[in-house]
Amino acid sequence: MASTAKKSSGSAALFHGHNPFLESVNAYFDKAAAIMGHPKGLLDQIRACNSVYYMQFPVRIKGGIQVIQAWRAEHSHHKLPTKGGIRYALSVDQEEVQALAALMTYKCAVVDVPFGGGKGGIRIDPKAYTVEELERITRRYTVELIKKNFIGPSVDVPAPDYGTGPREMAWIADTYQAMAKDDINALGCVTGKPVGQGGVRGRTAATGRGLYFAVREAVNDATLMKKLKMTTGLSDKKVIVQGFGNVGYHAAKFLMETGATIVGIIEWDGAVVNPKGIDVDALNVHRNKKGSITGFAGAKTIKDGNSVLEHDCDILVPAALESQIHKGNAGKIKAKIIAEGANGPITSEAEPILLKKGVLVMPDMYVNAGGVVVSYFEWLKNLSHVRFGRMDKRFDEGANTRIISTVEQLTGKTLTAAERAVVARGADEEDLVNSGLEDTMIASYHTIMEHYYGNPKVKDMRTAAFISSIDKIAQSYLSLGIFP
Ligand code: NAD
Repeated sequence: MASTAKKSSGSAALFHGHNPFLESVNAYFDKAAAIMGHPKGLLDQIRACNSVYYMQFPVRIKGGIQVIQAWRAEHSHHKLPTKGGIRYALSVDQEEVQALAALMTYKCAVVDVPFGGGKGGIRIDPKAYTVEELERITRRYTVELIKKNFIGPSVDVPAPDYGTGPREMAWIADTYQAMAKDDINALGCVTGKPVGQGGVRGRTAATGRGLYFAVREAVNDATLMKKLKMTTGLSDKKVIVQGFGNVGYHAAKFLMETGATIVGIIEWDGAVVNPKGIDVDALNVHRNKKGSITGFAGAKTIKDGNSVLEHDCDILVPAALESQIHKGNAGKIKAKIIAEGANGPITSEAEPILLKKGVLVMPDMYVNAGGVVVSYFEWLKNLSHVRFGRMDKRFDEGANTRIISTVEQLTGKTLTAAERAVVARGADEEDLVNSGLEDTMIASYHTIMEHYYGNPKVKDMRTAAFISSIDKIAQSYLSLGIFP
């Protein structure tokens, strides 16, 4: 297997220059750290990126050779493996990857997933390549990670992110397995895989579903809704979603199915709006057929998509890319709640403008954590080599049936076959995954809100989430006894 050496690289040429995303993540960290009592050295260690691997490799593309630039950052080794997605986009540079890796550290801590944070990226526009070329790039990237020990079930476990999905994860798993043939746990080297290749049911929808659970908790929080001068519940809420990809589509779908009205969806090439509500599934069918959400018959198309961020709504879900809400448009946002589906969609310059207007910003590190929560379940499944529910589903059904029969005997009343089937049913893998996700999102909401309501110095939910996260990471280091 590959060497255990970690290489660090940091030439200025690797950066696109001023990076508001990394600056924002660090500014948010500093804001929370300033009101905590931890020693400076400990906070510096938590904030620092532990290792970054920058690579360039040749790939045969359209008859020639193209040199591809790629990164993998492991932000924190306080828990292993490190965990975080792989992004394919032209925006990828070292600072973006480091910002995303740092967010992963804080995110894992906030939802009690026992991983350090990591993130990878390849600077390509995936739309510019054929499937075969993307496969070649992905497999070569995986080999580079293996060579430097930046991947493995106990080392660093990637997952999908912007521009990647189950297909890329399947290529990564296959390449890793081929090169680590004695590793019985090799499939745990990456998550977000197709179910047929060691994936877990519920992973694809997990981030959007988790976002829905987070928003549902907030709108059912009577104290919070009173503060925002809003009614509780989802049924009267108007929602705009930016980005109709994995996160945005699933978030919109679950919010719509539970009563919210999706009044706008924004994509890179335009937006669609309908004050009466957009049928998210029909829009998805249209997009799959036409390659764009624009021109959808069930809504009006707006050419300048990003202008729709400023339309009237209760809840805005930015679920595309970072730095979409900046000091230039923050003052014009009408939403009362912003649920960050994307990582870093609000710059640290924009956030004070929003907070001053009384907007509730639900932070990315909590709101979009559903993906990593279910990735954790997938990793556990890979290490245990058994599908969740396989051992107990039928046993539970038998036990439930015996309880029903006993109650029927005692009461003299009988259930219909349909009622009996509903009550007796044992949980399958997807039920267990979704239940574990729901429980995690609810528990984390209440832990964050204890800081939000309980600490007079905390004025916003992001700072509350950072404090919850930093405290947990600090405990890991303090238990080593290396900080006074
Ligand atoms: P994706 O590639 O599936 O979807 C992104 C969508 O955004 C695409 O449909 C794309 O066309 C659209 N888009 C691009 N630029 C846009 C613009 N300027 N305006 C509007 N739409 C635009 O990616 P994803 O996995 O849904 O990730 C989206 C965001 O969520 C990223 O910030 C990612 O880091 C974050 N995230 C993803 C996951 C996950 O499980 N996939 C988990 C946590 C966080």
